[in-house]
Amino acid sequence: MARLVRTTKCGACGESKAVISAVLGFCACCLRQADDARLEKVLAVHQASRRAYGLPGRVPRTAGGVSCGVCGNECQMGEGEQGYCGLRVNCGGKLVTLGGTPERGLVEWYYDPLPTNCVADWVCPGGVGAGYPKFAHAPGPERGYKNLAVFYNACTFNCLFCQNWHYRERQHRSAVMTADELAAAVDEATSCICYFGGDPTPQIAHALAASEAAL
Ligand code: SF4
Ligand code: SF4
Ligand SMILES: [Zn+2]
Ligand SMILES: [Zn+2]
Repeated sequence: MARLVRTTKCGACGESKAVISAVLGFCACCLRQADDARLEKVLAVHQASRRAYGLPGRVPRTAGGVSCGVCGNECQMGEGEQGYCGLRVNCGGKLVTLGGTPERGLVEWYYDPLPTNCVADWVCPGGVGAGYPKFAHAPGPERGYKNLAVFYNACTFNCLFCQNWHYRERQHRSAVMTADELAAAVDEATSCICYFGGDPTPQIAHALAASEAAL
């Protein structure tokens, strides 16, 4: 029986494959061995995907700009420029933080019954009872307990095919809460907090303050 598989032709080696991203136009092999010209094409796609959400295309490196050292991007922002994560901006020569302080987290949360699909599930006390009885409620999965899943609406990486890409939309209309407000969601049945998003790095001060308040 004939099967229809949609293929794309690689713009470098010319091979047609089913696993070539139409938007990038190169196969995985040719991406790994990209020369500068090919890399520029990929970066242009990445930049366009960021600009669609009001984020700067590249990590700002403006000489003499204000710098942020919260993550490894170490953005240097000229007047009016935004940091790569979109949460910091140079306003009149001053570094202004739009989100991520203990007073102002751009964040949403929900409860996830344990065991859950957290990436750490197979090693953490909530998923496997590691460290029982000191660190876990049960010698196996902590059934009956829940994880506080915390979705931070910003990211310092911004991968092209992010599964949680909607943090880019939510960044502009996120719920705003203090670290104490977030910590108040930890009740008797909450046995762990999982910070993700986006990634928690640009709002790490908020996450740390919430963790301390929850203890
Ligand atoms: S936290 Fe944001 S502004 Fe600061 S260095 Fe990282 S990406 Fe840049
Ligand atoms: S949330 Fe994770 S996968 Fe998505 S862009 Fe950020 S680092 Fe990449
Ligand atoms: Zn190729
Ligand atoms: Zn987790």
